[in-house]
Amino acid sequence: MSEPDDRLETRLIHAGEPQPRFGGAVAMPVFQSSTFAIDGDAGYHDLRYIRLNNTPNHLALAEKLAAIEGADAALVTSSGMAAVSTTLLSLLGAGGHLLAQRELYGGTHGFITRDLPRLGITHTFIDAGDPSTWAAALQPSTRVLYVEAISNPLVRIGDLAAAATFARQHGLVSIIDATFATPVNLRPLTLGFDLVLHSATKYLNGHTDIVAGAVVGRAALIETIKHLLDHLGGSLDPHACFLLHRGLKTLALRVRHQSASALALARWLERHPAVAAVHYPGLETHPDHTRARAWFSGFGGVLSFELRGGVEAADRLIARTRLMTHAPSLGGPETLLTRPATASHAGLTPDERQRTGVTEGLLRLCVGLEATEDLIADLERGLE
Ligand code: PLP
Repeated sequence: MSEPDDRLETRLIHAGEPQPRFGGAVAMPVFQSSTFAIDGDAGYHDLRYIRLNNTPNHLALAEKLAAIEGADAALVTSSGMAAVSTTLLSLLGAGGHLLAQRELYGGTHGFITRDLPRLGITHTFIDAGDPSTWAAALQPSTRVLYVEAISNPLVRIGDLAAAATFARQHGLVSIIDATFATPVNLRPLTLGFDLVLHSATKYLNGHTDIVAGAVVGRAALIETIKHLLDHLGGSLDPHACFLLHRGLKTLALRVRHQSASALALARWLERHPAVAAVHYPGLETHPDHTRARAWFSGFGGVLSFELRGGVEAADRLIARTRLMTHAPSLGGPETLLTRPATASHAGLTPDERQRTGVTEGLLRLCVGLEATEDLIADLERGLE
């Protein structure tokens, strides 16, 4: 059991744990049962079934996630994209319009630009760093403002506090995808956001072994989203719930290590003669460093950089490193190194990539849990 005053580390361990414990089990057991016996004269809403997101594993996890973000309620979903798509669909109907940050995760970008228009839902992309331009993008049918806490791969941070305030002033639901920030480094509800989304596949689970999502916020909004989630069927399997529940307990330790390691690597890269540019919000040279310092407790485990030798040098580094796996995703124990133009941003045209600042040679480094010194030695060897 957790108290509201408990610190994050304590809430990660104790919030949402069943009371009394099931059979005395200290770790939450897996309830791998699709359906549950009806108790007495229970009504339809009391039926327990995996797709209805209400098995003991779902309920414990939802309570833990809500406590971690300081919210009333939360939901777990079958992937980060299930969280994004179900949330947007439940808040926007035909004729609805949303404002969204221009640099979005590729899947979210595709959903907003290709799938939502087929349902009569339109959007306008905004510059999340320039609040003075937002009012001109409003329409009478605008319902939602959608941003990401840290953009990928240039790790930019928009004016998050202004976004939450603007949404409130204009009657919009404000949504933030805080996957890259994590609740360890940023608490978006304290900035005034209505809903926080996560790809729990990444830091929340933290072990590169499941795909999951989370939606956290006010109970009434979560109830509306759950209703659609129950119908669309994007429920997380109880075994994946169990793994996410287990992963969450070490979130604070992992993210603090990854953030400290990423900062050390960014500083080391900044001084290396083969490196042309380093993008990391913890560096004083980063354009959004002041915002990061104001709102974040740590700057996250993702950084990107460019080598003087361009694409060729970037591919050579990927091939030469021993400890850095060439694979998409982030937030696990393993450090991952990719060239976004051929990975996360391969779906964009070279023109679109250039417009969003993703050069062909840009490298993205998602720092894992290895010793920082070993990662630096690996980069040093790779850059020789
Ligand atoms: N949001 C962000 C910021 C992401 O990076 C991702 C995946 O990379 C998603 C959402 C989608 O998450 P998932 O792959 O769990 O569906």
